[in-house]
Amino acid sequence: MTAKVVTRFAPSPTGFLHIGGARTALFNWLYARHTGGRMLLRIEDTDRERSTDAAVDAIIDGLDWLGLKADEPPVSQFERAARHREVAEEMLAADKAYLCFATQAELEEMREKAKTEKRPPRYDGRWRDRDPSEAPEGVKPVIRIKAPQEGETLVRDQVQGDVRFPNRDLDDFVLLRSDGTPTYMHAVVVDDHDMGVTHIIRGDDHLTNAGRQTLIYQAMGWDVPVMAHIPLIHGEDGAKLSKRHGALGVEAYRAMGYPPEALLNYLARLGWSHGDDEVMSIDQMIEWFDIVDVNKGAARFDFAKLNALTGVHIRSTADEKLVEMLMDERDHLPNGANLKAASDERVRQILLQAMPGLKERAKSLVELTDMAGFYFAARPLAMDEKAEGILASGGREIVAKVLPALSAAPEWNGKALEEIVRATAEADGLKLGKLAQPLRAALTGRSTSPGVFDVLEVLGREESLARLSDQASA
Ligand code: GLU
Repeated sequence: MTAKVVTRFAPSPTGFLHIGGARTALFNWLYARHTGGRMLLRIEDTDRERSTDAAVDAIIDGLDWLGLKADEPPVSQFERAARHREVAEEMLAADKAYLCFATQAELEEMREKAKTEKRPPRYDGRWRDRDPSEAPEGVKPVIRIKAPQEGETLVRDQVQGDVRFPNRDLDDFVLLRSDGTPTYMHAVVVDDHDMGVTHIIRGDDHLTNAGRQTLIYQAMGWDVPVMAHIPLIHGEDGAKLSKRHGALGVEAYRAMGYPPEALLNYLARLGWSHGDDEVMSIDQMIEWFDIVDVNKGAARFDFAKLNALTGVHIRSTADEKLVEMLMDERDHLPNGANLKAASDERVRQILLQAMPGLKERAKSLVELTDMAGFYFAARPLAMDEKAEGILASGGREIVAKVLPALSAAPEWNGKALEEIVRATAEADGLKLGKLAQPLRAALTGRSTSPGVFDVLEVLGREESLARLSDQASA
């Protein structure tokens, strides 16, 4: 029996969860779900200067919002420093690593020399075979790996294919600094091994690290996990997306009103495909996802596509679910205050009734909220320019004319109300639209809205008549 799959997402908490990180988390999560395995979360907080608690919270909140929960509590890399040291010392004892007493000045000199010779800066191995008894006084050593000097290291990447690193390029890199703290290169390997990670799925900016990390696995006699380095996300213009670009944090997408399902669908399709399928549910993604199907080429982030896909998701989401989504997201949307009324119960009830008319055109929860806003607006309604134009050019008179018939309506439902307005129109030899347009303006403060008879029904008798009276008597 093969071992159960264990994937991991290993963000550095130096900023929020950016969109590229979210996609890496998604691929790890999908692969774990697809194979019946587990996804773990490791917070790579060894860089104490740049790691913040706020960033850890933002990452965990972002993952929660997306529904990409890890299967175990997060592991802090920083807290495992003693274990990283222990492994470095084990390598030292096994002659797989050595103490290096080169001074800063020596290292600087090596770098300079490499520069003038136009070579990449590499440690020259000067302490590889020297005895620590020769150590200069006052220099605290680092521990360096004793890397093979010939041959090559092969990374059999699931996305990039076989990648070969000539060992002479990998050099004897540092595992443990002179202050006893591990390097990133070393900590990642020890953690992945101890956490039982079987598959490393991460951005291809880490591909060159994979060669060096493989050397640590080999020195320890540990199994090398399966590697999959996924292409980075580029912008619409083809330029690399900047991690620190504020607009690209997951919470920015939340504030733009993308439902998690739609965003995940879009992210999954960035670099991965399943036939011609564009629109997928989470269950379908889980069923279909495989890392070997991820493309090698950089994916381009395209807002127009994301918006179109979000529109499809919104239309196919059940009304009840959309209402709950809006209620949950209200506080995260810039116009969320639109959805506040006397009671949440009333907001829910109105949204539920109005949803079929609203969801047809919305491409985000922000648009949905915007379109629904008039239902909850306080009287007298503020009119937008077009609505005011309609009312000012004879619309108010029409509203005044229809009002008595509507006030006398024996039942308050869209169909019955339409009949009443139609009869009034016919009596005056007017087209239904001539009456509907000013009614819409008076009821919604806008020139476009869902069907005006739906609006009347959802608003209810009392509120509808009050809004119409406000204009009839204005
Ligand atoms: N902490 C690294 C990052 O945020 C990821 C390391 C890894 O996945 O191995 O880019």
